[in-house]
Amino acid sequence: VIQPADRMNGLPTQFFAKLVAKANAQAAKGRDVINMGQGNPDQPTPPHIVAKLQEAAANPLYHKYPPFSGYSFLKEAVAKRYKEDYGVDVDPAAEVAILFGGKTGLVEISQCLLNPGDVCLVPDPGYPDYWSGVALAGAEMSFMPLSEQNRYLPDYEAIAPDIAKRAKLMFMNYPNNPTGAVANAGFYERTVRFAEKHGIVVASDFAYGAIGFDGHKPVSFLQTPGAKEVGVEFYTLSKTYNMAGWRVGFAIGNARIVGLINLIQDHYYCSLFGGIQEAAALALTGPQQCVADLRAMYESRREALFGSLERIGWKAARPGGSFFCWLPVAPGYTSEAFADRLLQDADVVVAPGVGFGAHGEGYVRLGLLTSEARLQEAAERIGRLGLFEA
Ligand code: PLP
Repeated sequence: VIQPADRMNGLPTQFFAKLVAKANAQAAKGRDVINMGQGNPDQPTPPHIVAKLQEAAANPLYHKYPPFSGYSFLKEAVAKRYKEDYGVDVDPAAEVAILFGGKTGLVEISQCLLNPGDVCLVPDPGYPDYWSGVALAGAEMSFMPLSEQNRYLPDYEAIAPDIAKRAKLMFMNYPNNPTGAVANAGFYERTVRFAEKHGIVVASDFAYGAIGFDGHKPVSFLQTPGAKEVGVEFYTLSKTYNMAGWRVGFAIGNARIVGLINLIQDHYYCSLFGGIQEAAALALTGPQQCVADLRAMYESRREALFGSLERIGWKAARPGGSFFCWLPVAPGYTSEAFADRLLQDADVVVAPGVGFGAHGEGYVRLGLLTSEARLQEAAERIGRLGLFEA
């Protein structure tokens, strides 16, 4: 009989695996399902990046083990992009770690920093992968509630002194999944002061750094004076360049933390396939028009969806960034029951808010991940259920 190690007990089945299974079951009945549930970009990777991988795949150098911690040309490309986009200076050799997508780094940082009994501050609602690393480290989570009243920003004043004292790490994520909220420079300054005061490491998840609406350019945590002394930022090419399947991202910032992440990665993976590293470097240093186009596409999808939602009487604030919309459920439903109702009776997949934490209850997350026409159709189908007063 197989007996898993104790550390596995804290690892739940991936929440999205359940959602995908439900959506697939509905589609298997022959229904035309509109999937707005999973955060999976629907557009292909820009062709110049794909062509670079095809060419690089033939390079025999890449058929050997890559160097531990990755090729320096990719780290230099990362540093160049941060300098151009945010005016941030980093030493590519010491302050950039190449990751298998943002996910690996977000799980590894907890293993690098947390001992059993340490506290990690986690946003609620928030991206569930933060929990996994904390569970694997045997540490404790303390949730920071995010709500509409506080613009989905954590209230550091409300954190109990004994929790702040035991906390060693905190996660934050703007533009935010699941709420679509964005943060400004003032918030990051408060965060750095809070982290300095209590000796807490900040993990800034900037997965949606390229997607800000209404002329808002998302601020990088590293633009804040003192940020590099207290934390790192996680970035991924998954969303910015539609490269979710390629599994490539990076951690950037504090050299000590970057070194620890590299050390773990050296043991698990060595590094990514060199051809992917070369194509990723081109994505970061090549033409950036594709990123501007992507942002514009999500903004017009947002307008198309909210126009239709207003017509059916489903009211909520528009997201300021990311490609997620955070909407209150109809009266009388839990978020899961509401999502099930939409799936069964409208063939529309949305993510129940409770999957992102207890404070996500009462909401569902809709992804702008299909065409404007399909988003409008989803809204019309939901409207036909008569759950909202138009
Ligand atoms: N962080 C957030 C908030 C996300 O939504 C995602 C992906 O959905 C990631 C990180 C990780 O992305 P990846 O592992 O594809 O880089």
